Amino acid sequence: RRAEFAAMRDLPAITRDNHRIELMINAGLRDDVAALEATGADGIGLFRTEFEFLVSSTLPRRERQLRLYRDILEAAGDRPVIFRTVDIGNDKTLPYINNSDETVEENPALGWRAIRLALEKKALLKVQARALIEGAAGKTLYVMFPMIAEPWEYEQARAVFEKQNAWLAKHDKPRAKRIYYGSMLEVPSLAETLDILLPKLDFLSIGTNDLIQFFFAADRAYPKLAERYDWLSPALLRFLSRIIDQANAAGCKVGICGEMGGRTLTAMALIGLGLKRLSITPVAIGPIKAMIRSLDRDAFAPFIRELVASGASNIGDQLETWAKKHGV
Ligand code: PEP
Ligand code: MG
Repeated sequence: RRAEFAAMRDLPAITRDNHRIELMINAGLRDDVAALEATGADGIGLFRTEFEFLVSSTLPRRERQLRLYRDILEAAGDRPVIFRTVDIGNDKTLPYINNSDETVEENPALGWRAIRLALEKKALLKVQARALIEGAAGKTLYVMFPMIAEPWEYEQARAVFEKQNAWLAKHDKPRAKRIYYGSMLEVPSLAETLDILLPKLDFLSIGTNDLIQFFFAADRAYPKLAERYDWLSPALLRFLSRIIDQANAAGCKVGICGEMGGRTLTAMALIGLGLKRLSITPVAIGPIKAMIRSLDRDAFAPFIRELVASGASNIGDQLETWAKKHGV
């Protein structure tokens, strides 16, 4: 169906009953930006900035980071890019970050990583903030923070950016025209304080790769547990559905940037549950757009809601049957 997907490149991701879905891509390298043109995606919903840190033998200097961010924004043109601040930690150790006083972690995924590390090694976050704000000179900057477990972490990380922005303004330096701040939701505890967090956010991005491993206590990288890491289980879909409802009710943009958004049936389920933004791997844009353009969302929504409420154990099969019957 390659040719069919290619022909849809410039058509919007809009359901048969006129719901516009934002379809974005995940990226991590300068060269990934070319996939925007190739796929016709609406933007980059997750730019993993740690890639640049992982391929470097020394801490990437501010000038180098600035050039990279500027190049990416230039290549993306009018399309938005959501930069995620560094998600590094003991599972991705960097020789130039001194953690010699730390003991070896038995569970690095649960460890000293991402925003936990960034808020302690503030120089790292400050430098990245300056580079991002200057790199986005005259443009809109979207930035989000990984592994936020409680609202105060988001507030502290945002404050680091706001302070750098104020400094740049005071010294008449080039800087972003406007900054939008978001949080990832990949630690289940954050879902319990959304009432406090949502009013402070410009957008929320659900990172289901990590979220699911913490939700089910099932290592995302361990094949033996693959069946427990279930994208279509009632427990997970109920959980996600509450988060989506709460964000939509608060008028906060909510999207998903985990791998589950790139599979046709799971993406269909999420859209039925009210999600309007997906950030996925570039190769999935074609198939997901085709699904969206053939879906009558309002006809499907009650079906998926009832299915999730009923706790059915065969949601995947039922979705497949529904999709076939309705020409999706
Ligand atoms: C996630 O956890 O869902 C996510 C998008 O981040 P990463 O895969 O980089 O951990
Ligand atoms: Mg993650």
